[in-house]
Amino acid sequence: MRRYVIIGTGAAGISASEAIRCYDQNGEILLIGDERHGFYSRPGVAYFLNGELSEQQLFPFTQQDFRRLNVRMLNARVTRIHPQQHQIELENRARLPYDRLLIATGASAVRSTVPGNHLQGVVKMDTLDDVHHIIKLTQRARTAVVVGGGITALELVEGLRARGVKTHYFLRGDRYWGNVLDEAESQIIERRLKDDGCQIHTNTELAEILGKNGHVLGVRTADGRQIACEIVGVAIGVLPRLDLAKTADIHIDRGIMVNEYLETSTSDIYAAGDVAQVYDPFTKKSVLDSLWGSARDQGTAAGMNMAGQCMIYTKLIPFNVTRLANLTTTIIGAVGKGADRDLAGIARGDSEVWRLLPDSIAAQTSFEVNRLRILVGENSLIGALVMGDQTLSQPLQNLIARRVDITLIREKLLQPEAPLGELIADFWIQWKGNYADRPSRPPQQS
Ligand SMILES: Cc1cc2nc3c(=O)[nH]c(=O)nc-3n(C[C@H](O)[C@H](O)[C@H](O)COP(=O)(O)OP(=O)(O)OC[C@H]3O[C@@H](n4cnc5c(N)ncnc54)[C@H](O)[C@@H]3O)c2cc1C
Repeated sequence: MRRYVIIGTGAAGISASEAIRCYDQNGEILLIGDERHGFYSRPGVAYFLNGELSEQQLFPFTQQDFRRLNVRMLNARVTRIHPQQHQIELENRARLPYDRLLIATGASAVRSTVPGNHLQGVVKMDTLDDVHHIIKLTQRARTAVVVGGGITALELVEGLRARGVKTHYFLRGDRYWGNVLDEAESQIIERRLKDDGCQIHTNTELAEILGKNGHVLGVRTADGRQIACEIVGVAIGVLPRLDLAKTADIHIDRGIMVNEYLETSTSDIYAAGDVAQVYDPFTKKSVLDSLWGSARDQGTAAGMNMAGQCMIYTKLIPFNVTRLANLTTTIIGAVGKGADRDLAGIARGDSEVWRLLPDSIAAQTSFEVNRLRILVGENSLIGALVMGDQTLSQPLQNLIARRVDITLIREKLLQPEAPLGELIADFWIQWKGNYADRPSRPPQQS
């Protein structure tokens, strides 16, 4: 009987145990996590903060689901891996054996390094406990300052506003999420935030968090302005949790490097999810994602391989459906470029692939808040951003992921004022009718 040990009870760890159980009915699966709430929707915590979801709705698994999976859960922190002995070590120094080990330890929020970062009232939004803490603070706080870029910073702003806290949002650059959104898209989001009462400060850097008796009293900006507040929200990116891999001399770069079977450089040890750095066939680079869907897919592939299947993991085009300033937004493939000055590393709900832009030309169309931007490559679409009306998000995901040849409509798409929506919709209907059942054209691996 094989003994599987999975470190991390997040999306990657849970989908790995589901996959293992599909192929090995008898093996012992031990799921170890130091998160006291166990498995819950991490993206969902933002909607718990803004009051749209109850705490109960964050938990996709019931006790019965875990019983069905026949896994043993252990709430503990793993401190070391001893690969020679095939053992892991817990905080209490107890050692447990494994035959196959999965590191699915995710990523953690980067902390601010400015003076005052230790004060009560400096918050992040990474876990359910973080959100409980923020909610408690909002019961007394009147004003907050949020720093950072990407989805989490915006969700923090919106959550604080929803709880009646006056909110200032600091952006280091001159617009929101400038390396993923184009100027018009940033403007749409900023206008909606302002309409909701948020004060946006562009080209503004946090220099110091001011406090008294250990509590936040305000902030000072790099250009010397002071703003009084009781909460400082920090969402400046996430970094993979690599401490465990380091104890086992596993090959790491920015994340744990894995091969196409999600195996690390050390035998019988796999990695999946936010902690793993995975080969991307589209950009031909090893990249990091912080996406729920990627974590689940990687967990499934790692679990299958741990259970003895020979499952090559091919990274799909990164895809996220999210809400930015209450506007449903789908981001597919490569849509932006460069580093984000508001982030150290990548943000939650983000993929490095979005900014590794191959040669392409952008075409866009917008109508009030509905906006569509597509990135047109040599003979296929390589990325798209759909804001508002989501009718085209699924067709675009298919066309981009399958690298469908769009030569027939390429010139039309690139005409000024081209009716992009209509062209894509007509092309999709025709293509689906003719070819949808054929296998997709996978990109060549170098
Ligand atoms: C606020 C927020 C918004 C997000 N928005 C989006 C979004 O819009 N779209 C999207 O696709 N994704 C989003 N994400 C990201 C998504 O939730 C993550 O990509 C996904 O949860 C990663 O899953 P994982 O299993 O790799 O890691 P995690 O979910 O981080 O799980 C890792 C687990 O390992 C545990 N662990 C770590 N080290 C140890 C150790 N030494 N011993 C024991 N246990 C350990 C941790 O406690 C944690 O429970 C968001 C996340 C957050 C927090």
